[in-house]
Amino acid sequence: MLNLVLFGPPGAGKGTQSERIIEHYGLIHLSTGDIFRSNIGDKTELGKLAKSYIDKGQLVPDEVTIDMVKSEVEKHSTPKGFIFDGFPRTQVQAKALDEYMKKKNTSISAMIALDVPEEELKERLQQRAKDSGRTDDADPKVIEQRIEVYRKETAPVKSFYQEQSKFHEVDGMGSIESITDRLFSTIEKIK
Ligand code: AMP
Repeated sequence: MLNLVLFGPPGAGKGTQSERIIEHYGLIHLSTGDIFRSNIGDKTELGKLAKSYIDKGQLVPDEVTIDMVKSEVEKHSTPKGFIFDGFPRTQVQAKALDEYMKKKNTSISAMIALDVPEEELKERLQQRAKDSGRTDDADPKVIEQRIEVYRKETAPVKSFYQEQSKFHEVDGMGSIESITDRLFSTIEKIK
């Protein structure tokens, strides 16, 4: 199996690039943000809980997020692999994912990080707010908070994969196509 973690701050292009990777490699896209948003749309209990954190730019608690990811993985019987988008976002989530993959006799193949400067991120998020209607993209204070949470809680997850020699960084600037090309050549080296 090819199990990739696509990493990067909000607005780095994880969602856009995931779509291209799954199409090319036949992987299953597992975006925790998308699953939370679909639960919010369906007004489920999980959705109500997630919304109270998402609206403030905070992370949904680890236990809730980890259980949700596990039950999504279980929905697929013989996958070629997964692309985890927006997960893991904390050290606790990263450890839980490793343990869970081990139980399933597989592992995370690599983490690939999209590197984008902060100023560019803010511009992209403001643009996305107009196109997607995501409320957490529309409020500059919530954007600041999400970037702050990323710096404090999520960025350290990088070292978890560096220690396992599984960390790869790709320049996330330039055209969507050029970024996809860089990602594909990195994935070819991992496979
Ligand atoms: P995203 O679409 O990945 O930007 O996620 C949107 C929001 O969902 C985040 O700002 C968090 O509030 C929540 N979220 C998504 N993934 C996670 C995660 N792995 N752990 C905790 N909260 C998450």
